[in-house]
Amino acid sequence: MLSDDHLTLERRVIVRIRDGLHARPAAQLVKRARGYAAELWLDHGGKSASAKNAVKLMLLAVKENAEIVLHAEGADAAAALDELTRFLETEDEGTLSPLAPSASPGAAGTTASPLAPAARRGIGASPGVALGPAFRYFPETLEPPHHHVPEAARPAEAARYEAAAARAAAALGQCAALAPESGDAPIGGIADALVEIVRDADLDAAIRLRIAEGMDAVTAVLDAGGEIAATFAGLSDAYMQARAEDVLSVSRAIALACLGRQDPSIATIAEGAVIIADELTAWDLARAPGARIGGIVCTRGAATAHAAIIARTRGIPAVFGIARLEQVADGTMIGLDGSSGDVVIDPDAATLSALQARVRGESAARDALAAFRDVAPRTRAGEAIVIAANLGSVGEIGVARQEGAMGIGLFRTELLFIEARRPLGEDEQVVAYERLATAFPGQHVTIRTLDVGGDKPVPGIDIPAEDNPFLGWRGLRYCLDRPELFAVQLRALLRAAVHGNLRIMLPMVSDPEELRRTRALIETCRAALAAAGVPHAVPPLGIMIETPAAALLADSLAAEVAFFSIGTNDLTQYIMAADRMNPRVSGLNRPDHPAVMRAIEMVAAAGQRAGIPVCMCGEAAARPDLIPRFVQLGLTELSMTPAAVLRAKEVVTLI
Ligand code: PEP
Ligand code: MG
Repeated sequence: MLSDDHLTLERRVIVRIRDGLHARPAAQLVKRARGYAAELWLDHGGKSASAKNAVKLMLLAVKENAEIVLHAEGADAAAALDELTRFLETEDEGTLSPLAPSASPGAAGTTASPLAPAARRGIGASPGVALGPAFRYFPETLEPPHHHVPEAARPAEAARYEAAAARAAAALGQCAALAPESGDAPIGGIADALVEIVRDADLDAAIRLRIAEGMDAVTAVLDAGGEIAATFAGLSDAYMQARAEDVLSVSRAIALACLGRQDPSIATIAEGAVIIADELTAWDLARAPGARIGGIVCTRGAATAHAAIIARTRGIPAVFGIARLEQVADGTMIGLDGSSGDVVIDPDAATLSALQARVRGESAARDALAAFRDVAPRTRAGEAIVIAANLGSVGEIGVARQEGAMGIGLFRTELLFIEARRPLGEDEQVVAYERLATAFPGQHVTIRTLDVGGDKPVPGIDIPAEDNPFLGWRGLRYCLDRPELFAVQLRALLRAAVHGNLRIMLPMVSDPEELRRTRALIETCRAALAAAGVPHAVPPLGIMIETPAAALLADSLAAEVAFFSIGTNDLTQYIMAADRMNPRVSGLNRPDHPAVMRAIEMVAAAGQRAGIPVCMCGEAAARPDLIPRFVQLGLTELSMTPAAVLRAKEVVTLI
């Protein structure tokens, strides 16, 4: 058997660094490699080079998107491989200045020391730079007691669980109720979703079964929660995997409530402090005063975790994947860069003043952009452009308004279902759509009908495994084949449309016949509502342009719809025949590729000829470098993540 010292590991890595491993990133890679005792080398194109020699590395001429094999031999091989892989897979490496002042070669080894004044690299979970005193958040571990409960005492044990679940739900319900108008909007939707887990019938049944078999309530809750979480963790979709964390945090909260305890609260955090934690769950953040949190640094957590989503929506810089935080004392200064993933613990004077300057710079830039909050931007030529928001949860309304969004250009209804972990009934959907419609009076609220399939599995909606899910039974084609499901959504939309500003948008259209079948179903729903005397209205119907077929048929489709919205995420993958989820072909997945731009141009021209607005709601709509071209092509509405709205407004005024 090999001893640890002779552990040899290898890993294939696609180099994502923009423009490849040129001088700057090579030097930075070497700096990182020298922090490890392990032998580290790269193979590329039949040649090998030590990862600790910048010149040899550059001679390998590794281009962006090239595949290399990374080898590591020695006691710290695994950690070295992880850090170098992260470095090589990060697009901006070598182009952004690192947070810490550049270390001399002799100082490189200090990265291994936990509290040294050098940057440690984690996963950037939410962008922005923060500097503040550490606020330690390390709740005790909770071990299941494994008491056997005699039969006669089991009803009392079940009652103990019930009371605890009710207390946990009430605590979260309070957060959800307070959230929407208090600037804690994203928390609202997530707290609602957590309450749903507390009330989840499967979880409840699994707990009761265990108690009935003699398990104590605490063990039963932790055990049942662990089992359900494991099924989420086993799913292939990253969003669904991250939901495992929600189930675990909810079961922990119920178990603590059984014991008459609760986790320490973040409520006492000082203004601008940086939370350091092993892991921060949505449950923890749901009870935290978001506006006071300066930043978040955790040992564990994925970019798709709810905690990361909350942090991003609220603009709290966050970095995950930083080890040994438990050794950091309360109040120690922490600096972090949520884009690069750099964290500095106890910075020296030079780093501190560099960080202070960056924090000041960011806050000045934010303040300058805040001036655009209530601006309806126009180009210098006077053309008005709507900058709207893409949302996936009712809880995000507050943030979208705060960020100056002019309505909603895309509401992804499948995310409502994913959040609730089940398909929503008609009345529940009406409530959600009405909240959206009334939140943006006088502005468009564009609700996209279910876009399931592809990369979006929705609990309770069965889609059999397919060889090519992106070319398969997804979006509108799925809904038309499941009219009982589709009609529920259409009826809800018609009922909510009495508020006047709703628009219905269909995803994944590839044939005009799909549009006609949808209209026929809308008409059936309208007639049924009218016959039942239910107030309703038929909102304008538009389509997403996401398939090459829709782009090529834009002229004939334009004659039949009220608006187009270009979904560049899918349109790019289909035009370029490059899977949007496959990093190996991400070099082709560029919305600014001439082929994609040509399609956008065709669609814009077709829309103009027909006199209908042409919008865009794919990620490309938020790109400051592309916005001028989209406006020049005739697009009049761009919809994006709320955090990008202010910047996009500014860009429009400069065109
Ligand atoms: C798109 O495809 O550009 C889009 C906005 O839809 P989604 O990302 O939800 O597939
Ligand atoms: Mg799409």
